[in-house]
Amino acid sequence: MKPFAAKFYVTFRCNSRCEYCNVWSDQRYSGKAELDEVEGKRVIEELHEAGVRYIDFTGGEPNLHKGLKALLKACKALGIKTEVTSNGTGGSEARNRLIECLPWIDKFNISLDTLSPERYKRARGIDRLEEVVTTIEETSKIKPPKLMVVVTDENKDELDEILAFARKHGATAYLSPVFKYFEGGKEHDDVELAIREKFFAPNAIVHLHFARFFKRQAKNKHQMPPCSANSQVITIGPDGSLVLPCYHAMAKMERWTGKPGEHLAREEMKAWRGGFLECCKGCTAIPYFGGTFNLTLNGEFLLQSYSHKLAQLKTEFLNEMPAAGNEKVLLELLRELEMLADSLGTETEAPYETGTENPFFYPGGQNCQLFKERLSKEEYEHDLQQADCWGLSRAPHRSYEVFYKNTYPELRRKRLCGEISENEYQRKIQESPEVQLRWWIDKSQKIFRTERRGNSYRIE
Ligand code: SF4
Ligand code: SF4
Repeated sequence: MKPFAAKFYVTFRCNSRCEYCNVWSDQRYSGKAELDEVEGKRVIEELHEAGVRYIDFTGGEPNLHKGLKALLKACKALGIKTEVTSNGTGGSEARNRLIECLPWIDKFNISLDTLSPERYKRARGIDRLEEVVTTIEETSKIKPPKLMVVVTDENKDELDEILAFARKHGATAYLSPVFKYFEGGKEHDDVELAIREKFFAPNAIVHLHFARFFKRQAKNKHQMPPCSANSQVITIGPDGSLVLPCYHAMAKMERWTGKPGEHLAREEMKAWRGGFLECCKGCTAIPYFGGTFNLTLNGEFLLQSYSHKLAQLKTEFLNEMPAAGNEKVLLELLRELEMLADSLGTETEAPYETGTENPFFYPGGQNCQLFKERLSKEEYEHDLQQADCWGLSRAPHRSYEVFYKNTYPELRRKRLCGEISENEYQRKIQESPEVQLRWWIDKSQKIFRTERRGNSYRIE
């Protein structure tokens, strides 16, 4: 399979000293040469030729690379979608550089874990909260960011405040539990509960499937995770080399010879496929997993589908999303979806031998309920390369997409034309999360052919 996404670490330099990050302290990342604009554009062209259509520009702090704008522009000229995650620091010069990049960024993220200067300093090792807040305020006027919030015991009591701050700026906030990559996950029950409670908050992005996955990894530290490194996703270092096997377990960096696609197709490269290596046991480096959760129709797939579609809904209709008035009912209903997910099992616990074909990439190879008749490789690959990445066309989230993409604009149209009153519009919007969730459970139950029996679901 050709890679369709790249994580491009344009620099390993960073002006922050976050306690949960090792880019600034680990010698493997220090002193790496960086490509200039011309060399960077050439690498992007080669990645495009190899099939890459999505590049996540990251680091270190990617905005420290003075050629970032030129690289983003090069992507747009080739039709490659882009993502940038910045820590928002660096003063007015850095801020202006970032603002100049915004027209060429599709997904724009800024890290913000706290609004308390003391906590910020403790977690990030620098005293620059004010700069970050100003960057969020200024960039929000042009393109509201998604705030990346790493939730720990320290800041879990601050989520309402952070969400309110984000909402004030038209931004969403992704609440991510803190995790250690290679400790087989770690149970942070209090943190996870605090995050789960915000699942229906209008601008909170919560990924239920990751919490479920962490728990599973924590129980079995020898488990090989579903990982897309060096199959769907490749990692590029600051000097344009391939980072193998991934950024987190970086064992080596090597230049490709010839074209990157040809290089990756070589026999010896199979040994670097994510998920098969010794270092992969118990790994929870989620940036490499999202794309593979949708390849096996298990509990994680179901939770990912729902989390992801609800996140899209919140992002697209942020100004209209109501604060969930009936949150208690919604959270109880959510438990039902989680029960359904539990009934689907995991199906990913089988150990895979190095060099064998990874069944994650060929869902027909899995014993799943939806694709008994096998999903063709063509259909799967076509869906996978859609912009939203999780695009299996026969799964519930495709139907859900139609549901919300039609429902919300139609309601808005009716309100604008005076066909429904403002009160009626507000009531319908208010009710919509519950209607959608009930519909989702019902639809999933049918698709996965499960039946509710007492307090659990069973596959028929
Ligand atoms: S800002 Fe990002 S790259 Fe820099 S130290 Fe913090 S987590 Fe690491
Ligand atoms: S499973 Fe983890 S360690 Fe292994 S390649 Fe993937 S991200 Fe890296």
